[in-house]
Amino acid sequence: MSIEWNPWHGCTKYSEGCENCYVYRRDESIGKNAHDLYKTRDFDLVIRRNRDGSYKVPSDTEVYLCMTSDFFLDRADSWRNEAWDMIRERYDLRFVVITKRIERFAECIPLDWGNGWRHVTVMCTVENQVQCDIRLPIYLYQSTYTAQSSYL
Ligand code: SF4
Repeated sequence: MSIEWNPWHGCTKYSEGCENCYVYRRDESIGKNAHDLYKTRDFDLVIRRNRDGSYKVPSDTEVYLCMTSDFFLDRADSWRNEAWDMIRERYDLRFVVITKRIERFAECIPLDWGNGWRHVTVMCTVENQVQCDIRLPIYLYQSTYTAQSSYL
């Protein structure tokens, strides 16, 4: 089973691959501006519990994180540590982060990264040759910190 977890919504266009961003297209279709950033009602989705105390999101679920934003977006810096705390608590899930902002990786990860975060996979979108040449070396260098890594 896999789900999306969007603790915040909204983004800033960043590179060529953002030109036809589906988040902007979808928001425009309902009269919204995807540049507007806000915490969603699902901010605590992965730690919500049922009446019997069990988590609503079952163990082993694959969780795609921030699919209507970018987890390393600078405007979300003040919310990310809280999100990391929830990810730490749910070590029984498998989180997937896909980012265009891989150069922010080192400043956005928790202090204890590399110790107990094997349930988080970080992927980097390279999108074209220009960005590939810029991002891939950064990614490959940063991936020495990651438990699992991949690029698109
Ligand atoms: S980083 Fe992703 S979500 Fe943000 S504007 Fe670009 S394509 Fe859209």
